[in-house]
Amino acid sequence: MPIQIIRTDITKLNCDAIVNAANNSLLGGGGVDGAIHRAAGPNLLRECRTLHGCETGQAKITGAYKLPCKYVIHTVGPVWRGGQNGEKQLLESCYRESLKLAKKYECESVAFPLISSGVYGYPKDQALKVAMDVCSDFLLKNDMLVNIVIFDKAAYQISEKLFSDIRAYIDDHYVDLHTDSLYERMLREQCSQILEMDECVAEFPKLAMPLADSFQLEDNKPSMAAPMQAQQLAPQMSLDEKLGQIDESFSQMLLRKIDEKGMTDAQCYKKANVDRKLFSKIRSNVHYSPSKTTAIAFAIALELSLEETKEMLMKAGYALSHSNKFDLIIEYFIQSGNYNIFEINEALFMFDQSLLGM
Ligand code: ADP
Repeated sequence: MPIQIIRTDITKLNCDAIVNAANNSLLGGGGVDGAIHRAAGPNLLRECRTLHGCETGQAKITGAYKLPCKYVIHTVGPVWRGGQNGEKQLLESCYRESLKLAKKYECESVAFPLISSGVYGYPKDQALKVAMDVCSDFLLKNDMLVNIVIFDKAAYQISEKLFSDIRAYIDDHYVDLHTDSLYERMLREQCSQILEMDECVAEFPKLAMPLADSFQLEDNKPSMAAPMQAQQLAPQMSLDEKLGQIDESFSQMLLRKIDEKGMTDAQCYKKANVDRKLFSKIRSNVHYSPSKTTAIAFAIALELSLEETKEMLMKAGYALSHSNKFDLIIEYFIQSGNYNIFEINEALFMFDQSLLGM
């Protein structure tokens, strides 16, 4: 199952286990630790006293008392001392050990705060990367829903370079949008006037070409002339005949691409951050209509080019346009050849967009 990044108060989450960023004593502290103890009530502290503390990088489990989840997993993150003192390995160990415990207690869902990223001072972008790397690695071999909880988004940033590159890409392409749409609108208007004429069908090839020339049609610009001509001249087909020629569906294209890329189903849906059950539904229903975020997640998992991504999306009834940030961010990552869905989701999260997968 997949990873979600969510912004909420972890004490409100109704999943099987929530993870506490505790200190070595396990006897409560500030930050998320304080919030968890307050919400769980004094019995949590009572049970914690029986555990005799916890080493940095290790994890211990207790009941959850008044919290809506079933268990609290207490882990102790490293204090940031500049990054050269084994902080990363210790933080990775916190996530690994907590996930191990969650698995041992048969949890289907778990939620982590960004361990060490508060008073312990671990830089938030690096803390998030560690969380994503260890959890996605774990999910390659295990089924669990992992929630990464970002509490104070204002204080959290993806790398500045990535952020400014994406921002620049969005800005550049908004400009393109305006030139494109003017060009396309004028072409559409001219064409519709021509189509109103009675002799349109016979004359269209002659009329369309000078029109296209006047706009200096380039090879990669859409030519309105050819499809319209074909549409106008095609003999009438019955509905049955048309339906008999129905194209490959989204599901069929997905399965074909998985074969072509030499992937297994599991490799594909895990890389897509998509739940196994959802994948089974898509596999077993040739006409399954995925959400746009799921369709794109598969295109990313399959490392499709921009053209192939658009083709796959079209089969699910969607497009990638230059008129919204979400689409532009996806386009940015595909154009940069970065198909890491977790990095894409971090960026989407930063720009307040829906995340891929699920
Ligand atoms: P640490 O001592 O490991 O740094 P903190 O509790 O100070 O632990 O902070 C860890 C992270 O938890 C920080 O990013 C902080 O913003 C976040 N946090 C604090 N309170 C909550 C909460 N109620 N729910 C989720 N995350 C929280």
